[in-house]
Amino acid sequence: MVPDCLFCKIVHREIPSEFLYENDTFVVFKDINPHAPVHLLIVPKKHIRSINDLETRDSELVGSMFILAKKMAKEQGINVSGYKLLFNVEKGGGQVIFHLHLHLLGGWK
Ligand code: AMP
Ligand code: ZN
Repeated sequence: MVPDCLFCKIVHREIPSEFLYENDTFVVFKDINPHAPVHLLIVPKKHIRSINDLETRDSELVGSMFILAKKMAKEQGINVSGYKLLFNVEKGGGQVIFHLHLHLLGGWK
């Protein structure tokens, strides 16, 4: 848990948020400012700043993020219509919350 990290606070329930999914490794919740009809954030409980900070030992965690994204897309009914998966990396890449998260976007007509 990193002080002043918004997503650490959400993960540890210091800030209320409705989780669509939770297990020992991840939480999933809706983006507060959605850019698509379905916009979920897949967030590891472990604090990792960005993709730049991934280490070899995180390989399984990152793989699991995509498996969870696939599951959430199906649950949201957007797996057949299609969706985007996005990591923003550091400021120039549009990252504003420096706790790793995968955007799941879809549901357009
Ligand atoms: P990024 O630009 O990749 O760092 O994305 C951060 C995302 O977190 C943005 O799309 C924000 O809308 C979203 N966000 C910020 N605060 C919250 C919050 N309290 N609950 C849900 N999503 C949030
Ligand atoms: Zn954090």
